[in-house]
Amino acid sequence: MKEIAIIGAGLTGLAFVNFMKGSKAKFFLFESKKINSENNKFYGRHIVLSNSSKEILIKMGLWEEIKKDAAKIKNIHVSRMGAFGSTLLNSEDEEVDSLGYQIDLGTLYNIFLRNALTLDNIEFIDDFKVEDVLPGNKCKIVSKDFDESIPNAFDSIIFSGGQLDSLYKKFFGEKVYKDYNQTAFVCEILFDKQPSNTAYERFTDMGIIALLPRKESWTFIYSINNIYLENLQGNSKKLTKDFIQKDIGYRCGNIKEISNEVFIPLSLEYYEQFSERNLCLLGDAAHKLHPIAGQSYNLTLRDTLVLSELFKKHEFNNFNLIFKKFLIERDKDIKSTIQFTDNMATQLSDLDFIKSKLIGLSLFLMDTNKKIKLNSIRYITGAKPLDSNLTNL
Ligand SMILES: Cc1cc2nc3c(=O)[nH]c(=O)nc-3n(C[C@H](O)[C@H](O)[C@H](O)COP(=O)(O)OP(=O)(O)OC[C@H]3O[C@@H](n4cnc5c(N)ncnc54)[C@H](O)[C@@H]3O)c2cc1C
Repeated sequence: MKEIAIIGAGLTGLAFVNFMKGSKAKFFLFESKKINSENNKFYGRHIVLSNSSKEILIKMGLWEEIKKDAAKIKNIHVSRMGAFGSTLLNSEDEEVDSLGYQIDLGTLYNIFLRNALTLDNIEFIDDFKVEDVLPGNKCKIVSKDFDESIPNAFDSIIFSGGQLDSLYKKFFGEKVYKDYNQTAFVCEILFDKQPSNTAYERFTDMGIIALLPRKESWTFIYSINNIYLENLQGNSKKLTKDFIQKDIGYRCGNIKEISNEVFIPLSLEYYEQFSERNLCLLGDAAHKLHPIAGQSYNLTLRDTLVLSELFKKHEFNNFNLIFKKFLIERDKDIKSTIQFTDNMATQLSDLDFIKSKLIGLSLFLMDTNKKIKLNSIRYITGAKPLDSNLTNL
């Protein structure tokens, strides 16, 4: 039986092993932290799953459990602060139940973990930091955490360790890196009104706001240009609250409380060549996108589905061929999702007065042009991503 190592048991590593249920290979999932479903550290962070992810999770048999905790996003209101014109993307235009589903990262992680722990072809090796990988037909893992019960040579290795390039950059050529000079300020907001099913995307002089409904509160993400960061960093809660309220207005009510604040520097990072012989990158290790369109992990789930199907089709024989096919099959979706997200993150933020008016006008035109609107919805929701022929807006 073939033996495959997966390095990193975050959302990507766990989703991947869930796909491998009942397959004819043995998987060893290495994780540097202690794996504990009671104590995972996501600090209340949430994630939006697209319709393509929903379809994939239905295939995995996990959607029924996930949907109980997911908040539906039926509309997305897009506007430019201080400019006339806005557009409302809604689920009825695309004839879907919802444009997206927001769920707590910890809840999603626990569902993946609980299910993976029941699978008998997966072995968890936690509290174990992989320090190096040596290539070869049998590739080897190097670590001081080994004991004799753990194998160290594998037929293939999948890197799903997030952003730890030091481990794998020597195998995958140049990494594309773009610093947006923006930082995401992420927090939870409680308003004096109950959340609706509408999410808000708002472009301001300082950056881009996403306000996404949860069941009882909202996720607030301000991708703010670094020169304006001082408005949010190191301020009292009262000043931060006033600043946010001014930029989002009163559509959702008065802010009662903000909590779980974190700052995350924003960049676009990806490898064009994310597989090499019997080694492959998956998840944020392969591509990490700006969060403006909530695409990174949704893209990963689509990668994971394709890779798992290729594994099964080729019965884990000839990893070189499997990973080459994986590169080819995923090329179009990955490139177009990166391009769409990058355009949104760069062209629609940091605008001068004239550009800002033009954006207002385009949002107005978008609202009156069903075709443009539908294309936008398809990208945002990941609808029909695998056979979509949309490459440019
Ligand atoms: C503000 C923000 C909002 C976002 N919103 C969305 C959204 O709405 N929709 C969406 O699709 N995506 C979203 N994303 C992206 C999404 O959160 C990530 O794509 C996803 O969490 C990445 O998971 P991962 O498992 O690939 O990486 P990670 O979560 O980084 O997991 C990697 C794991 O590998 C382990 N590890 C690392 N190195 C080693 C080693 N040497 N040995 C052993 N183990 C190791 C780590 O401990 C960790 O557990 C958002 C991101 C941000 C920043």
